[in-house]
Amino acid sequence: RHLRLREVRRARGPASRTGGGADRLRALMLGPPGSGKGTQGSRLATRHGVPHLSTGELLRAHVGQGTALGRVAEEAMSHGDLIADDLVIAIVLEEVLGPNAVGGFVLDGFPRTVPQAIAAYEMARRHDVTLHVVFLLEIPEDQLVTRLKDRGQLSGRSDDTPETIRHRIDVYVEQTSPLIDYYKGRDILVAIDATGTIDEVAASI
Ligand code: AMP
Repeated sequence: RHLRLREVRRARGPASRTGGGADRLRALMLGPPGSGKGTQGSRLATRHGVPHLSTGELLRAHVGQGTALGRVAEEAMSHGDLIADDLVIAIVLEEVLGPNAVGGFVLDGFPRTVPQAIAAYEMARRHDVTLHVVFLLEIPEDQLVTRLKDRGQLSGRSDDTPETIRHRIDVYVEQTSPLIDYYKGRDILVAIDATGTIDEVAASI
């Protein structure tokens, strides 16, 4: 009986000892709107076989389906403002960092403020799923504006209009960029030059 158990462990690899997939990548994509978080986050997630969790996509789906959350979120999103912290924390935290999170994940767009990051860290510590790494995608502001305008024409995202683009960059600087120091303090921040092609940026990540 003991022998069989050991064999199973060896076959599944070391992670199975702590419940399956405990050593899978747990990463956060951080950076201004248009820096490539979605594109790079989904590539990274595919490469590591973990889910890519985008709160922006989740919220857009709610808006599209007209759920209660979608109706509350819609106005803030269309103006490029953030959804209230307590709402985001109440809805995404358990889902993202609860028991499911042992299998790893790439987070994109959450946490987006220091209070969200603190709540996420407390929850993650309870479940032993704190982040391994935060990739900060760095890119000059003029390139962001060009990228977002192009994306707006392609995707028809209602918040990729010239007026909201400027505002979303300001919101990033004011409310999200303090996370850079927060994650530097935890010693898990890795800065990436996000100006190259998709393949070049993926290679440096
Ligand atoms: P994104 O696709 O990440 O650019 O997100 C689109 C919009 O969804 C943002 O401009 C916010 O209005 C909202 N949003 C996404 N994630 C969050 C979050 N973690 N906290 C607050 N608002 C968010």
